[in-house]
Amino acid sequence: MSRIVVEAKNLRKVYPIRRGIFREPAQLQAVGGVSFALEEGRTLAVVGESGCGKSTLARMVALIEKPTEGTLVLDGSDAVDTPSADRRRLRQAVQMVFQNPYGSLNPRKKISAVLEAPLAINTNLKPAERAERARAMLAQVGLRPEHADRYPHMFSGGQRQRIAIARALMPGPKLLVADEPVSALDVSIQAQVLNLLSDLQQEFKLAYLFISHDLAVVRHIAHDVLVMYLGHVMEQGPRAKIFARPLHPYTHALLASTPGIGPRTRQRIVLQGELPSPLHPPAGCVFSSRCPYAQEICHRDRPLPRAVDERLVACHFADDFLAGGFPEEATAHNAFLPGSAGTTLKESP
Ligand code: SF4
Repeated sequence: MSRIVVEAKNLRKVYPIRRGIFREPAQLQAVGGVSFALEEGRTLAVVGESGCGKSTLARMVALIEKPTEGTLVLDGSDAVDTPSADRRRLRQAVQMVFQNPYGSLNPRKKISAVLEAPLAINTNLKPAERAERARAMLAQVGLRPEHADRYPHMFSGGQRQRIAIARALMPGPKLLVADEPVSALDVSIQAQVLNLLSDLQQEFKLAYLFISHDLAVVRHIAHDVLVMYLGHVMEQGPRAKIFARPLHPYTHALLASTPGIGPRTRQRIVLQGELPSPLHPPAGCVFSSRCPYAQEICHRDRPLPRAVDERLVACHFADDFLAGGFPEEATAHNAFLPGSAGTTLKESP
């Protein structure tokens, strides 16, 4: 059985927002209770619109931000209230790859210095041994050992991201948190970097927490998917299941808006309006203000993620969507009464 590298339970992040001297700070909930477990050699993709909380979740898992609530167990140790002696080990166990490879590399430092820095801090290796490991790692990510003597501006975007991945791998992590790692790259280069990530995962049994808004990329790399909206989990489970047949209207809308993704029999849901402010989330289901299938109960009771068809879905009507699909968009508004004779649940040809 594969080992669990990271396990999060009910992770929450709340930021106080100042509103002047005489008023209490407002509470902005960026992440509202996310749970998942990620095994070695597996990739969990977190998807959702900008502002849904996926990057905040990534920063908590990467130990950059402390959760307001919840537990995070990383490589067998509590990562929230860790004694400082253990903290260094945990910081090596999780590494991050950022969206902009140029911004994440110091332009004044040679690649050799960039790659050797984690070893200089965390190991007792001699300079010659560190240099040898850096050159070996460059070869591992598809670059030449002599590239160690160059500066970041001498590389293309794809090469820089390879260097950023090499730097992340130098401390020997168990988990890579990749925040939109290919979205700044050309499409042809994206495929190369994704293939590199897949190869490295197999070789080192790495676990990936992969943050992306690009569902085509997610389909390529993820084993499991977690769909977030306004800081909450909407749907979570195996990628194959969710892409073949989403059971949450938000997942359905995301997939339907991406050309060439998912089953051919998919009707369009066009999301109306903007993402609501996390300072004033809708009552009941957080997606209710934009959901074409919202009913009275949706504006009153918040649905919690529950098991439906081998995944978790936070929707009151997930069983109905499983049984009959999503109603046509034209009849969706106020015409959807699950289980009633007037309900027309059919998929478009
Ligand atoms: Fe839409 Fe209601 Fe389901 Fe929320 S609970 S996704 S509002 S149908």
